Amino acid sequence: MENFAFLLPVIFCAFGLTFLFVGRHERRSAPWWGIGYLCAALGFIMPILPETFPGPFRSLTADTLFLLALSFNGQGLLAQFRRHLPVWPRALLVAVGILASVVSTFILENPTLALAANDLLTSLCFVVPALAVMRHARGAAERVLVAIVFLVVADSLVRNIVMTVLNRNPSDFETFLLSPYAFLMQTTSTVIGILMALAALACVTLEVIDRYKDVAERDPLTGLLNRRGFDRLSGQKTIAGAVIVCDIDHFKRVNDQYGHAAGDAVIAELARILTLEPVDGAVLARFGGEEFVLFLPGVACEAARAVAHAMHARIGSTDWTRIGVGAVTASFGVSASRSGDLSIYEVMARADRALYAAKTAGRNRVFTEGERAAGPRPAPARAVA
Ligand code: GH3
Ligand code: MG
Ligand code: MG
Repeated sequence: MENFAFLLPVIFCAFGLTFLFVGRHERRSAPWWGIGYLCAALGFIMPILPETFPGPFRSLTADTLFLLALSFNGQGLLAQFRRHLPVWPRALLVAVGILASVVSTFILENPTLALAANDLLTSLCFVVPALAVMRHARGAAERVLVAIVFLVVADSLVRNIVMTVLNRNPSDFETFLLSPYAFLMQTTSTVIGILMALAALACVTLEVIDRYKDVAERDPLTGLLNRRGFDRLSGQKTIAGAVIVCDIDHFKRVNDQYGHAAGDAVIAELARILTLEPVDGAVLARFGGEEFVLFLPGVACEAARAVAHAMHARIGSTDWTRIGVGAVTASFGVSASRSGDLSIYEVMARADRALYAAKTAGRNRVFTEGERAAGPRPAPARAVA
């Protein structure tokens, strides 16, 4: 048991430092978990300090450290689930907890009461954030974390009730260290504490991976998906649907006339316009320079054509002078999937051919697959001096 007691601070300290290390990449929740686990590690050091440190002082310090540990972990939990709670009620709980420990340890000299009060208040510090986040778990790791958090609270409460009912609480701190209560407390706390650290680490790591995945799959100029992001997202959907491709007309002239920065602003503004009336489940991406692709799962050709016309009209009615350029137009190609299509790229190839036809027919228009030069009249572009 003594070796076991030495192991506890080491394990919790290792987790605390790991969280602080990961916190360099994920600053929202990992640092709170890190400080929480380091406080717990220090708390577990108290019972194994040499006899020269008086028992009551060790007990009070440990109580305070556990209160702080679960308060910081609770803050990590809130940060992980992007929830906010005012800090002062929990700070008040910590203060009440410390006061209860002082009174029961030094004035009433009742370690049993000190333990019960500390367990109750540390549980409260943790259960409040747990209740606030429990409905907001996304994915298996977060659900497991919430389950373990409730296990931590249940463990503390059940242990207290059972021990009090059995009236086996030790009468002083030194005997407490040798009691089955202390052994049970250390065993369950260790196992559940390790499980909670692993679940929280999994959540934090997935968060970091998600962030880098998002960076890798997004175009920084427009915030839209890039081709890699489009491939992943469209690959998760059925290929039944329609594809709209959109390409800015004579974009090279925009760059030549107004400069590359203005060209960038046009691309960003066009991306914004394309997202103005989003269609359910649609995947919009910037494919290369000034070309955009919109996949509309489950949408028929006619409906996709209407979507493209609406986008075309919005581009036509935009006041481009706001970003310092003359009239900007774009051409659209629309195609829908057919029963023999093996991938979304077959639909896209037909939409591209329709786009090419729209370009050769004079640009600034929407063409559907199979449509030739006799397409609809282009919408009037808002000419700018
Ligand atoms: P068309 O009407 O036939 O589409 O003619 P276009 O000039 O729009 O097409 P083209 O493909 O010949 O030229 C596209 C230009 O877009 C060439 C490239 O310099 C420019 N471009 C590509 N990516 C960017 C970008 O991120 N920012 C800016 N400012 N320009 C870009
Ligand atoms: Mg172009
Ligand atoms: Mg192009």
